[in-house]
Parts: sequence; structure tokens; C-alpha cells
Amino acid sequence: MTETTDVLVIGSGFGGAIPAYYMAAGGARVTILERGPRWGAAQFSHSMRLGTYNKIVDVIRGDGVSVVAGNCVGGGSVVYFAASLRAPSYAFERHGSIGRRMWPASLSRATLDPWYDRVEQALPVAHTGWSDVSYAGGVLAAACRRAGHTCNPVPVAVDTAACTNCNWMLSGCAFDAKRSMLLNYLPAAEAHGAVIRPLHEVQLITPSPESGYRYAVAYTVLDPDDYTCTTNVGIIHAKVVVLAAGAVGTPVILQRSALLLGGIPGAVGRYFSGNGDHVSVADVDESKAGSLLGLSRPDGTVYQGLPIGRPITSATYDYLDPSAPEYSRFMLQQIYFPPLTNILAQTTGAPGWFGVDKRRMRARWPSWLTLLAMTEDDNEGTFGVVPPTGGFIRLAPGLGQGTMSFRPTTRTRQAWDRADTALRGILEKDGLSRVRPWTEALAGTVTAHPLGSARIGDDPTTSALDDQHELRGFRGLFVTDGSAVPASLTVNPSLTIAALAERAAIGIATRVAEAGVTMTGGVPLPGR
Ligand SMILES: Cc1cc2nc3c(=O)[nH]c(=O)nc-3n(C[C@H](O)[C@H](O)[C@H](O)COP(=O)(O)OP(=O)(O)OC[C@H]3O[C@@H](n4cnc5c(N)ncnc54)[C@H](O)[C@@H]3O)c2cc1C
Repeated sequence: MTETTDVLVIGSGFGGAIPAYYMAAGGARVTILERGPRWGAAQFSHSMRLGTYNKIVDVIRGDGVSVVAGNCVGGGSVVYFAASLRAPSYAFERHGSIGRRMWPASLSRATLDPWYDRVEQALPVAHTGWSDVSYAGGVLAAACRRAGHTCNPVPVAVDTAACTNCNWMLSGCAFDAKRSMLLNYLPAAEAHGAVIRPLHEVQLITPSPESGYRYAVAYTVLDPDDYTCTTNVGIIHAKVVVLAAGAVGTPVILQRSALLLGGIPGAVGRYFSGNGDHVSVADVDESKAGSLLGLSRPDGTVYQGLPIGRPITSATYDYLDPSAPEYSRFMLQQIYFPPLTNILAQTTGAPGWFGVDKRRMRARWPSWLTLLAMTEDDNEGTFGVVPPTGGFIRLAPGLGQGTMSFRPTTRTRQAWDRADTALRGILEKDGLSRVRPWTEALAGTVTAHPLGSARIGDDPTTSALDDQHELRGFRGLFVTDGSAVPASLTVNPSLTIAALAERAAIGIATRVAEAGVTMTGGVPLPGR
């Protein structure tokens, strides 16, 4: 039997869930194919045992870059740390290396603001105060103040009253306090008839031979116990396709489909950005944290609080200076990663990830302060030879070999160096700590914020999508995930991806209506 739908959505993170809701609420038949399993609060566990978090989070290793990404219904929104910030105005004006504005003329911070407003209401985003900030966030704040800088609590998509500060956000929220897509857009889409199919991995998009349907989407069904095994295959014909498999998944599906689609825009699989992510560890001297910063904890220790509290709680916005030249603007944010990333922390001597020095440093782990700099990179990432299935070759649950390569340009390196210098100015002042950027020797640069691999823009040679997110030359085929974001933002990107997906829903609905589906306008926010 031929299977059909009006709108087929690939991926269920921010980029997929949001259009899925608007199309379903507008009156279309919507099917969502999601590669990962469907887990909820009952399955999310406070454990680093294999078989828990690594069933829903992937580390995808490329050449010179590693990407951390969600692999479940809700995508990255389920495993992310929920820092929810609007991108600064200058981020939309960037030229990067192409000699012209990378964003389409129709998009700026001002034109995206109404869409940011909607997402902040829909999730919703909580504006936090100092009582919400962890010990680690407090150390950054106190060090900033002492160095003459400001620091702020970070807004989060979390119900702070329900949050227990357990610090297991990477494993999914067992208290339903994190406002992931599982709590808003996805259930609202299902309430309007959308069907979510977990463990359905899309492989190929081709033109559909079915009358009235533009595209045929081929998928495999994955074994929940072993994602490398296929239990079934199928094809769905759709009038409109929304591709939202994330900035690592989306370009690979398009590359694999290129021949059968009759060629795809040259910008697919190019201009990949890691959002300029650059992680450092500051090894804090406990006595100096007491004497210099005047900090202490009720139990008599001074700091020793790295693992306590939500992963992201404070940041300094002092370097988001619109008048500064490109590649010199960045945000410094306190962040927490689970102990399995400790191997990336460097000691002073080479090779830096091994030996006695490393052992001593790891023993001091509770006194670390981890910092994420989000800088302006050069969109230098590219995707290579297409893997046989999926977006990468799966080596183990939670681990994959990807096809992206990232060779940081001088400008990207200079941007990282500037962030390192600023960090040292704040955190090494008078011996408060020793700052050590994560080594690139093991996994290349590491990012949880992949962007740009099929981006929007006005210039067909450097952007795969037009300003409505439609793939150039392919009516009714849209990309609405992080791939579409043209360049690094110097802030965490989820709110921008979500706001762009909100905005793109109008153009998608127009194409659905053109395909003969009766669509209702003025769809309210989910849950309203
Ligand atoms: C640990 C961690 C912490 C983070 N913290 C923050 C934060 O605090 N603030 C912030 O702004 N951002 C954060 N991020 C980044 C944020 O999660 C991503 O930017 C965001 O989720 C990207 O949304 P997306 O729609 O582009 O893709 P995703 O959310 O990654 O969704 C893509 C979905 O597509 C699915 N998929 C992939 N390939 C296929 C296929 N072939 N067929 C079917 N489905 C497929 C995937 O399983 C996934 O569910 C974090 C990310 C991680 C991993």
C-alpha cells in the first residue's frame, strides 16, 4: 500500500517540532520521522551507565571536529542545557569570509524579534536571578567583578520552581522541569493529529511518482537495542517535506539524495560552523577563591562546587561589543560537563591528556570551573563522502564517525585566542586559577552547536536556502534546523533556531496550501 502524508517532517528537535505543530494545527496531515527513541521523564536516569544517556546523545567525530547532538524524540532540546539567549544584532550583520552579509536582507535581529517573543512564551523561558546561580556560576561572577567585568544570570527554558538542580540535564530531565519539545510543540502537534514515528531514520529523498505528491522519503526502522540493525524499511510520499535532522544529519541526507533529485545547491554540506565553541577549564585555587573573592560555603569548604547545580547559570556579556571588529566578539559562559569529558582537560606538559600531571589535575576536579567561549568562526567546515546509511557511521551506541572536516582558519584561531586571553585576564588574576583550553589532540574542536551546513541567504553560490528556508530549486522542500543558521552567533543557538523555525512556518504553510490542503491561519502558540 502506498503511504502518503501532506507534510513529512524529518527530525523532531527545535527545527522539526515547531513547523510540525503549525502545519498540524493549521489542518495538514503531518508525519514526523525521528531516528532516535521516544523517551520521557520515566526513562531519563541519573546515571552514566552505558545504555542510559548514550542511547539519546551522540558524539560524532569528524576530521578536526567532534559534534555532540541529541538522538531521540525532541532532539537536542531533550539533552541540552536550556540556556536561551537571543543573538546580538551584530551577529546578523556578519560578512565572514564571503565579502557580503551572510544573512538574507529580510532578516535582522529586529525582524526576528517577534519570533523570538513567540518562542520565549511558548517554551517558556525563565529569567533567572542570583539565587538560581550555581557555585560555579558564582565563582565566575565574583572573578568577573574583581577583574572589572559584569556577569549575569543566564535565562533558561526551565521551570525553576520544579527544577531540583540535579545537574543531570544531559541525560534528559526526570522531573519534566526542562521545557524541551516534549512538553510543548510536540504534544500540541500530536493533539492536532500529527504522528511521531521514533526509530525511523530517513535515508533518501527523491521526486515522487505519485500524483499530487512532490517527494518520496525512504526510511529504515532501527532496532531499539542496536541502532546499527534495521528491522524494516518504508517510503512515504509527501506534498511538502521539512528537513530538520540537525546540522550534521540534514546535509548528508541531501547529499545522498543529490543524484535522484537531479542535483542540489552547491552550498549544501559547506559553510559548516561549530558556533565558534571553545571550551576551557580553570583549575581554581581554593584558598585564593576564599582570600581574593571572599567566597565560602556553609560546610566550610570554599568552592569545590563544579558538579553542583544546573550546567549553565552565568555568563559575561562584556565582549558582545557591536562596535568591535568581526572575529573579536564572544561570550564567556560558565558550563558543566560530566566527568567523562575530563580527559580533554590539558595539563601543562605534552601530551597533556596523560600522565602524572594529568592524574593530579583530575584529582582536583571538584575545584575546576569549566568555561565555554562562543566566538565568531569562519564557517570552514565541509562534509565529505556520504556514509552508507544515516548521517554517520555508528561505531557504538552514542558514538559515530562523521564525514565533516573542520580546519580552523587563522581568523577562527585568533578569535579563540582572544577569548582565551580575556578568560585568563579574569580567572588567572593574582593566581586565582590556571586556565587551560581543552585539547584538540583527541577529538578536534568540540561543539554542541553545529550550524550552517545548508544555510539561508540571498546569494545562491554561498547559501543553499532562500530566505524562506526553501532549498533552492526545490519547491516544497524546506530546511528549518541549525543547518539553516548562516553563521556562528556568539551565544547558544537554540532560541535562534526555534525563532527561525517559527518564522519559516508561514512559507511552509503557503506551499502546503498550494498543494491543495485547506490551511487555517492565525494558529495560536502551543497550549494556548
Ligand atoms: C549537551 C548539549 C547541551 C546543549 N545546551 C544548549 C544550551 O544550553 N542552549 C542552546 O541554545 N543550545 C544548546 N545545545 C544545542 C542545541 O541542543 C541545538 O542547537 C539544537 O538542539 C539544534 O536543533 P536542531 O533542530 O537543529 O537539531 P536537533 O535538535 O539536533 O534535532 C535533530 C533531530 O533529527 C534527528 N535525526 C538526525 N538524522 C535523522 C535521520 N536521518 N532521520 C530521522 N531523524 C534524524 C536527530 O535524532 C534529532 O532528534 C546543546 C546541545 C547539547 C548536545
